Amino acid sequence: MQDFPVFDPRYTRYAHLTDLRSDTVTRPTEAMYARMRAAPIGDDGLDGDPSVRELEAAVATMLGKEAGLYVPTCTMANLLAVLAHTQRHQQVVLEANAHMFTTERGGSLLAGLAYTAVEGSMGAMDLNRLTAAIKPGAYRIGVGLIAIETSHNNAGGAVLPLEHMRDVHVLAQRHGVPVHIDGARLMNAAAALGVPAATLGEHAESVSLCLSKGLSAPVGAVLAASGKAIGVARAYRKVLGGTQRQAGIMAAAGLEALLTMSARMTDDHAQARALSDRLNAIGAPLAASTPDTNIVQVQVGETGMSSHQWVDALSEHGVFARPWGDSILRCVTHRHIDARDIEHAADAFAQVLKQCVHA
Ligand SMILES: *Cc1c(COP(=O)(O)O)cnc(C)c1O
Repeated sequence: MQDFPVFDPRYTRYAHLTDLRSDTVTRPTEAMYARMRAAPIGDDGLDGDPSVRELEAAVATMLGKEAGLYVPTCTMANLLAVLAHTQRHQQVVLEANAHMFTTERGGSLLAGLAYTAVEGSMGAMDLNRLTAAIKPGAYRIGVGLIAIETSHNNAGGAVLPLEHMRDVHVLAQRHGVPVHIDGARLMNAAAALGVPAATLGEHAESVSLCLSKGLSAPVGAVLAASGKAIGVARAYRKVLGGTQRQAGIMAAAGLEALLTMSARMTDDHAQARALSDRLNAIGAPLAASTPDTNIVQVQVGETGMSSHQWVDALSEHGVFARPWGDSILRCVTHRHIDARDIEHAADAFAQVLKQCVHA
């Protein structure tokens, strides 16, 4: 609960609130507000906004790409990447549990594309299946893009191994197909691997990055790619209504987020590991995943209570989590979660478990 200045009035009834629902609940820092107030601004839909340009250039450099494009959400960044790389009536190939497939594939309707899902494990597509999916054939529509995701949200924050990213990219290049990284949590992946973000960017033609998750900016995302691809994405951003005017105010918070928050991702990973260890110390019938990054999945299927009942019961103790299907709880650590919150959460889990056992 540290550094949680603008407390949501809906939640004031909790003496101690531990909000593990998502890293999107993070609030801007004082330094972000200061940078927002001081930001030089223009009109990004007219002749450009200097603070937006500064953020776009900073992200492009950080990801090893020529150019960047500031957009309101990472969903839009991913859709613009799809639109920039593909032609109508092509396929986009992605991992079956990828956010771009499970949550964003409505975009395929607008883009006139077929989204093809490839099964994998821990967020990594099976390479044999991927090879089969992109093989050209007389009766097949062409593949315009392969998209990968790291860290992988639905795979419990799993980080794709660098060798896997390289293998996918080599395979894609052999078929002349570009690769996009849905890097909503790319900084988590880079921190977990202990490499610069550009090392991940090497294995793709474009990368999206969400500023409003663990990085704690209020809104915004950036797409980074070649100057040519960003030019196309910029035109489609206008089509989608994503071109904003004095957007430099928000971009300034995003830049501050990028500069000051990337290095602290490992703190969130350590807290997630601590939570996992504490829950596994409670033991059966609870079972927590061992996190690569900041997401812990807790199996509650054997407790006699559904994930939805668990969410309600935990909230009575001031601990918020989210159901991930009927038998899994998702707990995400972030800047407002400290060691005390992990203790609080683990105690709440132990108490709710007693209720289950005695039910
Ligand atoms: C959250 C998320 C997105 C979408 O980001 P928004 O900024 O909420 O639109 C895309 N991909 C992944 C993996 C995500 O976790």
